[in-house]
Amino acid sequence: MQSETIVIVGGGHAAAQLCASLVELGQGPNVHLVCEEDVLPYQRPPLSKAYFKNPEESIQTIKAQTWFDQHGIQVHLANPAKHLDVAKKEIHLSSGLVLQYDKLVLATGTRARTLPSIAKGTENVHFLRTAKDAQALRERFSHLSSFTLIGGGFIGLELAATFNALGKKVTVLEVAPRLLARSISPELSQHVLQTHLSAGVDIRMQANIKGFEFEGHRLTRIELETGHIDTECVLLGIGAVAEETLALEAGLKCSQGVVVDEHLRTSDPCVWAIGDCTRFPYHANGETLRLESIQNANDQARIAAQNLCGQATKYQPTPWFWSEQGAMRLQMVGLFEPELTQVKRPGANAQSFSLFHYKQDVLQCVETVNSPMDHMMAKKMFEQKISPSQAQVSDPNVPLKSLVA
Ligand SMILES: Cc1cc2nc3c(=O)[nH]c(=O)nc-3n(C[C@H](O)[C@H](O)[C@H](O)COP(=O)(O)OP(=O)(O)OC[C@H]3O[C@@H](n4cnc5c(N)ncnc54)[C@H](O)[C@@H]3O)c2cc1C
Repeated sequence: MQSETIVIVGGGHAAAQLCASLVELGQGPNVHLVCEEDVLPYQRPPLSKAYFKNPEESIQTIKAQTWFDQHGIQVHLANPAKHLDVAKKEIHLSSGLVLQYDKLVLATGTRARTLPSIAKGTENVHFLRTAKDAQALRERFSHLSSFTLIGGGFIGLELAATFNALGKKVTVLEVAPRLLARSISPELSQHVLQTHLSAGVDIRMQANIKGFEFEGHRLTRIELETGHIDTECVLLGIGAVAEETLALEAGLKCSQGVVVDEHLRTSDPCVWAIGDCTRFPYHANGETLRLESIQNANDQARIAAQNLCGQATKYQPTPWFWSEQGAMRLQMVGLFEPELTQVKRPGANAQSFSLFHYKQDVLQCVETVNSPMDHMMAKKMFEQKISPSQAQVSDPNVPLKSLVA
Protein backbone atom coordinates (compact mmCIF):
# COMPACT_ATOMS: atom_id res chain seq x y z
CA MET A 1 0.00 0.00 0.00
CA GLN A 2 2.81 2.38 0.95
CA SER A 3 3.93 2.81 -2.66
CA GLU A 4 0.46 3.20 -4.19
CA THR A 5 -0.37 6.57 -5.69
CA ILE A 6 -3.67 8.08 -4.56
CA VAL A 7 -5.06 11.02 -6.51
CA ILE A 8 -7.85 13.10 -4.95
CA VAL A 9 -9.77 15.31 -7.35
CA GLY A 10 -11.56 18.08 -5.48
CA GLY A 11 -10.17 20.55 -3.00
CA GLY A 12 -13.20 21.08 -0.76
CA HIS A 13 -14.26 19.76 2.63
CA ALA A 14 -14.32 16.09 1.64
CA ALA A 15 -10.90 16.25 -0.03
CA ALA A 16 -9.33 18.05 2.94
CA GLN A 17 -10.71 15.52 5.44
CA LEU A 18 -9.56 12.66 3.22
CA CYS A 19 -6.02 14.06 3.23
CA ALA A 20 -6.15 14.31 7.04
CA SER A 21 -7.50 10.78 7.44
CA LEU A 22 -4.94 9.32 5.03
CA VAL A 23 -2.17 11.05 7.00
CA GLU A 24 -3.54 9.52 10.22
CA LEU A 25 -3.41 6.13 8.53
CA GLY A 26 0.22 6.65 7.57
CA GLN A 27 -0.37 7.61 3.94
CA GLY A 28 0.55 11.10 2.78
CA PRO A 29 3.52 10.81 0.52
CA ASN A 30 2.10 9.46 -2.77
CA VAL A 31 -1.07 11.51 -2.35
CA HIS A 32 -1.89 14.16 -4.95
CA LEU A 33 -4.61 16.73 -4.35
CA VAL A 34 -5.96 18.22 -7.57
CA CYS A 35 -7.89 21.47 -7.06
CA GLU A 36 -9.84 23.57 -9.51
CA GLU A 37 -9.82 26.62 -7.24
CA ASP A 38 -6.69 28.70 -6.63
CA VAL A 39 -6.93 28.43 -2.83
CA LEU A 40 -6.28 25.52 -0.48
CA PRO A 41 -9.44 23.78 0.82
CA TYR A 42 -11.37 26.22 3.02
CA GLN A 43 -14.44 26.41 5.25
CA ARG A 44 -17.52 27.08 3.11
CA PRO A 45 -20.20 27.59 5.82
CA PRO A 46 -18.87 31.01 6.97
CA LEU A 47 -19.28 32.36 3.42
CA SER A 48 -23.02 32.89 3.97
CA LYS A 49 -22.60 33.98 7.59
CA ALA A 50 -19.54 35.59 9.22
CA TYR A 51 -17.90 36.55 5.92
CA PHE A 52 -20.42 39.32 5.26
CA LYS A 53 -20.96 40.37 8.86
CA ASN A 54 -17.32 41.33 9.22
CA PRO A 55 -15.62 42.93 6.21
CA GLU A 56 -12.25 41.93 7.72
CA GLU A 57 -13.22 38.25 7.83
CA SER A 58 -10.89 36.26 5.62
CA ILE A 59 -11.22 32.87 3.95
CA GLN A 60 -10.41 30.18 6.53
CA THR A 61 -8.30 27.42 5.04
CA ILE A 62 -8.78 23.99 6.62
CA LYS A 63 -5.07 23.11 6.53
CA ALA A 64 -2.09 25.36 5.80
CA GLN A 65 0.31 24.75 2.92
CA THR A 66 2.98 23.82 5.50
CA TRP A 67 0.74 20.97 6.71
CA PHE A 68 0.48 19.53 3.19
CA ASP A 69 4.25 19.96 2.74
CA GLN A 70 5.03 18.29 6.08
CA HIS A 71 3.01 15.25 5.13
CA GLY A 72 4.31 14.99 1.59
CA ILE A 73 0.96 15.71 -0.10
CA GLN A 74 1.42 17.32 -3.50
CA VAL A 75 -1.20 20.00 -4.05
CA HIS A 76 -2.03 21.15 -7.59
CA LEU A 77 -3.91 24.45 -7.20
CA ALA A 78 -5.88 26.15 -10.01
CA ASN A 79 -5.32 23.05 -12.12
CA PRO A 80 -8.67 21.31 -12.63
CA ALA A 81 -8.80 17.73 -13.84
CA LYS A 82 -10.11 17.68 -17.39
CA HIS A 83 -10.15 14.02 -18.36
CA LEU A 84 -10.21 10.71 -16.53
CA ASP A 85 -9.00 7.60 -18.32
CA VAL A 86 -9.97 4.65 -16.13
CA ALA A 87 -8.50 2.09 -18.53
CA LYS A 88 -5.02 3.65 -18.34
CA LYS A 89 -5.53 4.85 -14.74
CA GLU A 90 -4.61 8.39 -15.73
CA ILE A 91 -6.03 11.77 -14.83
CA HIS A 92 -5.27 14.70 -17.13
CA LEU A 93 -5.04 18.17 -15.61
CA SER A 94 -5.75 21.41 -17.45
CA SER A 95 -2.05 22.36 -17.30
CA GLY A 96 -1.27 19.32 -19.43
CA LEU A 97 0.12 17.34 -16.48
CA VAL A 98 -0.95 13.69 -16.54
CA LEU A 99 -0.99 11.83 -13.21
CA GLN A 100 -0.91 8.04 -13.05
CA TYR A 101 -2.86 6.61 -10.13
CA ASP A 102 -3.42 3.33 -8.39
CA LYS A 103 -6.51 4.68 -6.63
CA LEU A 104 -8.48 7.80 -7.43
CA VAL A 105 -11.08 9.65 -5.38
CA LEU A 106 -13.58 12.07 -6.87
CA ALA A 107 -14.54 14.81 -4.40
CA THR A 108 -15.78 17.34 -6.91
CA GLY A 109 -18.76 18.67 -4.94
CA THR A 110 -21.51 20.54 -6.72
CA ARG A 111 -21.95 23.51 -8.99
CA ALA A 112 -24.66 26.12 -8.67
CA ARG A 113 -27.83 25.49 -10.65
CA THR A 114 -28.39 28.22 -13.23
CA LEU A 115 -31.37 29.51 -15.19
CA PRO A 116 -31.11 29.34 -18.99
CA SER A 117 -32.92 32.68 -19.29
CA ILE A 118 -30.13 34.49 -17.39
CA ALA A 119 -26.97 34.71 -19.49
CA LYS A 120 -23.67 33.75 -17.88
CA GLY A 121 -21.82 36.90 -16.89
CA THR A 122 -24.90 39.03 -16.22
CA GLU A 123 -23.25 41.73 -14.09
CA ASN A 124 -25.63 41.99 -11.15
CA VAL A 125 -26.47 38.29 -10.79
CA HIS A 126 -24.48 36.39 -8.17
CA PHE A 127 -24.11 32.82 -6.89
CA LEU A 128 -22.57 31.72 -3.64
CA ARG A 129 -20.62 28.49 -3.73
CA THR A 130 -16.97 29.47 -3.72
CA ALA A 131 -14.61 31.92 -2.05
CA LYS A 132 -14.42 33.78 -5.36
CA ASP A 133 -18.22 34.11 -5.47
CA ALA A 134 -18.22 35.49 -1.92
CA GLN A 135 -15.41 37.93 -2.66
CA ALA A 136 -17.21 39.24 -5.77
CA LEU A 137 -20.41 39.76 -3.80
CA ARG A 138 -18.67 41.39 -0.84
CA GLU A 139 -16.89 43.85 -3.14
CA ARG A 140 -20.26 45.14 -4.35
CA PHE A 141 -22.08 44.76 -1.06
CA SER A 142 -21.55 48.22 0.45
CA HIS A 143 -22.66 49.98 -2.76
CA LEU A 144 -26.03 48.24 -2.82
CA SER A 145 -29.13 48.90 -0.76
CA SER A 146 -31.32 45.99 -1.84
CA PHE A 147 -31.07 42.39 -2.94
CA THR A 148 -33.48 39.95 -4.54
CA LEU A 149 -32.90 36.33 -3.71
CA ILE A 150 -34.33 33.80 -6.10
CA GLY A 151 -34.80 30.61 -4.08
CA GLY A 152 -35.43 30.21 -0.39
CA GLY A 153 -32.99 27.37 0.32
CA PHE A 154 -30.63 27.18 3.29
CA ILE A 155 -27.85 29.31 1.78
CA GLY A 156 -30.34 31.87 0.43
CA LEU A 157 -32.08 32.23 3.78
CA GLU A 158 -28.78 32.51 5.63
CA LEU A 159 -27.78 35.34 3.31
CA ALA A 160 -31.20 36.94 3.62
CA ALA A 161 -30.85 37.05 7.41
CA THR A 162 -27.27 38.33 7.24
CA PHE A 163 -28.02 41.07 4.71
CA ASN A 164 -31.24 42.11 6.44
CA ALA A 165 -29.38 42.45 9.75
CA LEU A 166 -26.85 44.67 7.96
CA GLY A 167 -29.62 47.05 6.95
CA LYS A 168 -30.20 45.94 3.36
CA LYS A 169 -33.67 45.51 1.91
CA VAL A 170 -34.04 41.83 1.09
CA THR A 171 -36.75 40.17 -0.98
CA VAL A 172 -36.87 36.38 -1.27
CA LEU A 173 -38.81 34.74 -4.09
CA GLU A 174 -39.70 31.12 -3.36
CA VAL A 175 -41.78 29.12 -5.80
CA ALA A 176 -42.85 26.41 -3.32
CA PRO A 177 -45.79 26.78 -0.92
CA ARG A 178 -43.47 26.41 2.09
CA LEU A 179 -39.81 27.09 2.84
CA LEU A 180 -37.21 24.31 2.76
CA ALA A 181 -40.01 21.88 1.99
CA ARG A 182 -37.73 19.00 0.96
CA SER A 183 -35.67 19.12 4.15
CA ILE A 184 -37.71 20.24 7.15
CA SER A 185 -41.15 19.72 8.69
CA PRO A 186 -44.10 22.02 7.98
CA GLU A 187 -44.05 23.38 11.54
CA LEU A 188 -40.39 24.30 11.29
CA SER A 189 -40.97 25.83 7.81
CA GLN A 190 -43.65 28.03 9.29
CA HIS A 191 -41.41 29.08 12.18
CA VAL A 192 -38.56 29.94 9.79
CA LEU A 193 -40.92 31.97 7.59
CA GLN A 194 -42.38 33.90 10.53
CA THR A 195 -38.94 34.61 11.99
CA HIS A 196 -37.69 36.11 8.74
CA LEU A 197 -40.89 38.09 8.17
CA SER A 198 -40.79 39.48 11.72
CA ALA A 199 -37.18 40.54 11.18
CA GLY A 200 -38.25 42.50 8.10
CA VAL A 201 -37.28 40.18 5.23
CA ASP A 202 -39.85 40.31 2.45
CA ILE A 203 -40.53 36.67 1.57
CA ARG A 204 -42.91 35.93 -1.28
CA MET A 205 -44.11 32.33 -1.31
CA GLN A 206 -45.41 30.63 -4.47
CA ALA A 207 -43.69 33.37 -6.42
CA ASN A 208 -43.88 32.16 -10.01
CA ILE A 209 -41.38 33.98 -12.18
CA LYS A 210 -42.67 34.67 -15.69
CA GLY A 211 -39.56 36.33 -17.09
CA PHE A 212 -36.72 38.79 -16.71
CA GLU A 213 -35.95 42.21 -18.22
CA PHE A 214 -32.37 43.26 -18.90
CA GLU A 215 -30.65 46.58 -19.58
CA GLY A 216 -27.33 45.90 -21.23
CA HIS A 217 -25.62 43.26 -19.08
CA ARG A 218 -27.82 43.90 -16.05
CA LEU A 219 -30.98 42.18 -14.91
CA THR A 220 -33.30 45.00 -13.91
CA ARG A 221 -36.78 43.59 -13.51
CA ILE A 222 -38.31 40.26 -12.49
CA GLU A 223 -41.78 39.62 -13.86
CA LEU A 224 -43.98 37.60 -11.52
CA GLU A 225 -47.45 36.24 -12.11
CA THR A 226 -48.60 38.72 -9.49
CA GLY A 227 -46.66 41.81 -10.63
CA HIS A 228 -43.00 42.69 -10.94
CA ILE A 229 -39.92 43.54 -8.89
CA ASP A 230 -37.30 46.07 -9.93
CA THR A 231 -33.96 44.83 -8.73
CA GLU A 232 -30.47 46.17 -8.04
CA CYS A 233 -28.82 42.83 -7.46
CA VAL A 234 -29.99 39.22 -7.80
CA LEU A 235 -28.70 36.26 -5.83
CA LEU A 236 -29.51 32.99 -7.47
CA GLY A 237 -29.99 30.32 -4.82
CA ILE A 238 -31.91 27.64 -6.63
CA GLY A 239 -29.80 24.73 -5.49
CA ALA A 240 -26.85 22.85 -6.82
CA VAL A 241 -26.16 19.91 -9.08
CA ALA A 242 -23.56 17.22 -8.51
CA GLU A 243 -20.32 17.90 -10.37
CA GLU A 244 -20.10 14.57 -12.16
CA THR A 245 -18.67 15.63 -15.53
CA LEU A 246 -15.43 13.66 -15.20
CA ALA A 247 -17.25 10.56 -13.97
CA LEU A 248 -19.82 10.68 -16.77
CA GLU A 249 -17.19 11.10 -19.47
CA ALA A 250 -15.19 8.22 -18.00
CA GLY A 251 -18.27 5.99 -18.22
CA LEU A 252 -18.79 5.67 -14.45
CA LYS A 253 -22.33 5.06 -13.29
CA CYS A 254 -24.03 8.36 -12.41
CA SER A 255 -27.58 9.23 -11.47
CA GLN A 256 -27.68 12.90 -10.47
CA GLY A 257 -24.54 12.13 -8.49
CA VAL A 258 -21.68 9.67 -8.88
CA VAL A 259 -23.13 6.33 -7.82
CA VAL A 260 -21.11 4.56 -5.12
CA ASP A 261 -21.58 1.39 -3.10
CA GLU A 262 -21.60 1.17 0.70
CA HIS A 263 -17.77 1.31 0.64
CA LEU A 264 -17.98 4.51 -1.46
CA ARG A 265 -16.50 2.76 -4.49
CA THR A 266 -17.80 3.79 -7.90
CA SER A 267 -18.59 1.41 -10.76
CA ASP A 268 -14.81 1.35 -11.45
CA PRO A 269 -12.91 -0.74 -8.87
CA CYS A 270 -10.05 1.78 -8.61
CA VAL A 271 -12.21 4.92 -8.27
CA TRP A 272 -14.05 6.11 -5.15
CA ALA A 273 -16.25 9.18 -4.73
CA ILE A 274 -17.07 11.20 -1.61
CA GLY A 275 -18.96 14.30 -0.48
CA ASP A 276 -21.66 16.33 -2.20
CA CYS A 277 -21.04 14.69 -5.58
CA THR A 278 -21.97 11.16 -4.50
CA ARG A 279 -25.18 9.18 -4.56
CA PHE A 280 -24.88 6.44 -1.96
CA PRO A 281 -27.08 3.57 -0.72
CA TYR A 282 -29.10 4.75 2.25
CA HIS A 283 -31.74 2.17 3.09
CA ALA A 284 -31.70 -1.60 2.95
CA ASN A 285 -34.59 -1.30 0.48
CA GLY A 286 -32.27 0.02 -2.22
CA GLU A 287 -32.98 3.73 -1.80
CA THR A 288 -30.10 6.06 -2.57
CA LEU A 289 -29.32 9.53 -1.36
CA ARG A 290 -27.20 12.54 -2.25
CA LEU A 291 -26.51 14.87 0.68
CA GLU A 292 -25.00 18.32 0.74
CA SER A 293 -23.57 18.71 4.22
CA ILE A 294 -20.30 18.99 6.08
CA GLN A 295 -21.18 15.88 8.11
CA ASN A 296 -21.59 13.81 4.95
CA ALA A 297 -18.40 15.15 3.35
CA ASN A 298 -16.26 14.57 6.44
CA ASP A 299 -17.70 11.19 7.41
CA GLN A 300 -17.48 9.83 3.87
CA ALA A 301 -13.87 11.01 3.69
CA ARG A 302 -13.00 9.13 6.90
CA ILE A 303 -14.66 5.95 5.65
CA ALA A 304 -13.08 6.25 2.19
CA ALA A 305 -9.62 6.59 3.77
CA GLN A 306 -10.14 3.29 5.59
CA ASN A 307 -11.29 1.59 2.41
CA LEU A 308 -8.37 2.99 0.42
CA CYS A 309 -6.07 1.50 3.04
CA GLY A 310 -7.62 -1.92 2.68
CA GLN A 311 -10.05 -1.94 5.62
CA ALA A 312 -13.50 -2.78 4.25
CA THR A 313 -15.66 -0.24 6.09
CA LYS A 314 -19.26 0.61 5.27
CA TYR A 315 -20.69 4.11 5.26
CA GLN A 316 -23.74 4.00 7.52
CA PRO A 317 -24.38 7.60 8.40
CA THR A 318 -26.55 9.40 10.87
CA PRO A 319 -27.10 12.54 8.81
CA TRP A 320 -26.94 15.82 10.72
CA PHE A 321 -26.95 19.40 9.56
CA TRP A 322 -27.04 22.94 10.85
CA SER A 323 -28.00 26.32 9.48
CA GLU A 324 -27.63 29.77 11.06
CA GLN A 325 -30.18 32.31 9.92
CA GLY A 326 -29.68 35.46 11.95
CA ALA A 327 -30.34 34.64 15.60
CA MET A 328 -31.98 31.35 14.64
CA ARG A 329 -29.80 28.25 14.84
CA LEU A 330 -31.43 25.23 13.23
CA GLN A 331 -29.96 21.80 13.81
CA MET A 332 -31.23 18.52 12.43
CA VAL A 333 -30.39 14.87 13.09
CA GLY A 334 -31.82 12.18 10.84
CA LEU A 335 -33.89 12.96 7.78
CA PHE A 336 -37.37 14.42 7.78
CA GLU A 337 -39.98 12.66 5.67
CA PRO A 338 -43.73 13.19 5.44
CA GLU A 339 -46.20 11.26 7.55
CA LEU A 340 -44.07 10.96 10.66
CA THR A 341 -45.61 11.50 14.08
CA GLN A 342 -44.38 14.79 15.50
CA VAL A 343 -43.82 15.53 19.19
CA LYS A 344 -42.89 19.03 20.31
CA ARG A 345 -40.55 19.71 23.20
CA PRO A 346 -40.80 23.29 24.37
CA GLY A 347 -37.63 25.28 25.02
CA ALA A 348 -36.89 28.19 27.32
CA ASN A 349 -38.87 30.63 25.11
CA ALA A 350 -40.91 30.78 21.88
CA GLN A 351 -37.71 31.07 19.87
CA SER A 352 -36.35 27.73 21.05
CA PHE A 353 -37.97 24.31 20.77
CA SER A 354 -37.35 20.84 19.39
CA LEU A 355 -39.46 18.63 17.16
CA PHE A 356 -39.07 14.87 17.53
CA HIS A 357 -40.41 12.83 14.61
CA TYR A 358 -41.30 9.17 14.97
CA LYS A 359 -42.26 6.36 12.63
CA GLN A 360 -44.14 3.76 14.69
CA ASP A 361 -42.34 4.71 17.91
CA VAL A 362 -38.92 4.69 16.24
CA LEU A 363 -37.18 8.06 16.23
CA GLN A 364 -36.48 9.21 12.63
CA CYS A 365 -35.53 12.84 12.87
CA VAL A 366 -35.05 15.59 15.45
CA GLU A 367 -35.20 19.26 14.50
CA THR A 368 -34.03 21.79 17.05
CA VAL A 369 -34.26 25.57 17.06
CA ASN A 370 -31.83 27.40 19.35
CA SER A 371 -31.55 24.24 21.47
CA PRO A 372 -28.00 22.97 20.99
CA MET A 373 -28.19 20.72 24.05
CA ASP A 374 -31.29 18.95 22.69
CA HIS A 375 -29.43 18.50 19.40
CA MET A 376 -26.45 16.93 21.15
CA MET A 377 -28.70 14.56 23.08
CA ALA A 378 -30.63 13.70 19.91
CA LYS A 379 -27.36 12.81 18.18
CA LYS A 380 -26.56 10.46 21.07
CA MET A 381 -30.00 8.87 20.77
CA PHE A 382 -29.30 8.10 17.10
CA GLU A 383 -25.78 6.84 17.81
CA GLN A 384 -27.07 4.60 20.59
CA LYS A 385 -30.20 3.64 18.62
CA ILE A 386 -32.43 4.78 21.49
CA SER A 387 -36.02 5.86 20.85
CA PRO A 388 -37.31 7.49 24.03
CA SER A 389 -41.08 7.52 24.46
CA GLN A 390 -43.05 10.41 23.03
CA ALA A 391 -44.27 11.27 26.54
CA GLN A 392 -40.69 11.55 27.79
CA VAL A 393 -39.43 13.89 25.08
CA SER A 394 -42.49 16.16 25.18
CA ASP A 395 -42.04 16.80 28.92
CA PRO A 396 -39.49 19.61 29.44
CA ASN A 397 -39.12 18.47 33.05
CA VAL A 398 -37.57 15.18 31.87
CA PRO A 399 -33.93 16.02 31.04
CA LEU A 400 -32.99 14.46 27.70
CA LYS A 401 -29.62 13.66 29.29
CA SER A 402 -31.37 11.14 31.52
CA LEU A 403 -32.63 9.25 28.44
CA VAL A 404 -29.22 8.48 26.92
CA ALA A 405 -26.41 6.34 28.21
C1 LIG B 1 -22.17 29.30 1.30
C2 LIG B 1 -22.31 27.90 1.81
C3 LIG B 1 -22.73 27.69 3.12
C4 LIG B 1 -22.88 26.39 3.62
N1 LIG B 1 -23.27 26.20 4.91
C5 LIG B 1 -23.37 24.94 5.41
C6 LIG B 1 -23.74 24.72 6.75
O1 LIG B 1 -24.02 25.67 7.51
N2 LIG B 1 -23.80 23.44 7.21
C7 LIG B 1 -23.49 22.37 6.39
O2 LIG B 1 -23.54 21.20 6.84
N3 LIG B 1 -23.15 22.55 5.10
C8 LIG B 1 -23.08 23.80 4.59
N4 LIG B 1 -22.73 24.00 3.28
C9 LIG B 1 -22.52 22.82 2.43
C10 LIG B 1 -21.09 22.30 2.58
O3 LIG B 1 -20.19 23.35 2.40
C11 LIG B 1 -20.88 21.21 1.54
O4 LIG B 1 -21.73 20.14 1.83
C12 LIG B 1 -19.42 20.74 1.55
O5 LIG B 1 -18.56 21.77 1.18
C13 LIG B 1 -19.25 19.55 0.61
O6 LIG B 1 -17.91 19.22 0.52
P1 LIG B 1 -17.31 18.61 -0.84
O7 LIG B 1 -15.85 18.46 -0.64
O8 LIG B 1 -18.11 17.44 -1.26
O9 LIG B 1 -17.59 19.72 -1.93
P2 LIG B 1 -17.00 21.19 -1.98
O10 LIG B 1 -16.61 21.67 -0.64
O11 LIG B 1 -17.98 21.96 -2.78
O12 LIG B 1 -15.67 21.02 -2.82
C14 LIG B 1 -15.63 20.54 -4.15
C15 LIG B 1 -14.35 21.07 -4.78
O13 LIG B 1 -14.08 20.33 -5.96
C16 LIG B 1 -13.56 21.22 -6.93
N5 LIG B 1 -13.66 20.61 -8.26
C17 LIG B 1 -14.77 20.39 -8.99
N6 LIG B 1 -14.45 19.83 -10.17
C18 LIG B 1 -13.10 19.69 -10.18
C19 LIG B 1 -12.16 19.19 -11.13
N7 LIG B 1 -12.56 18.70 -12.31
N8 LIG B 1 -10.84 19.22 -10.82
C20 LIG B 1 -10.43 19.68 -9.61
N9 LIG B 1 -11.27 20.18 -8.68
C21 LIG B 1 -12.59 20.18 -8.97
C22 LIG B 1 -14.42 22.46 -6.73
O14 LIG B 1 -13.82 23.60 -7.31
C23 LIG B 1 -14.48 22.53 -5.21
O15 LIG B 1 -13.41 23.26 -4.70
C24 LIG B 1 -22.59 25.29 2.76
C25 LIG B 1 -22.18 25.50 1.44
C26 LIG B 1 -22.03 26.79 0.97
C27 LIG B 1 -21.59 27.01 -0.46
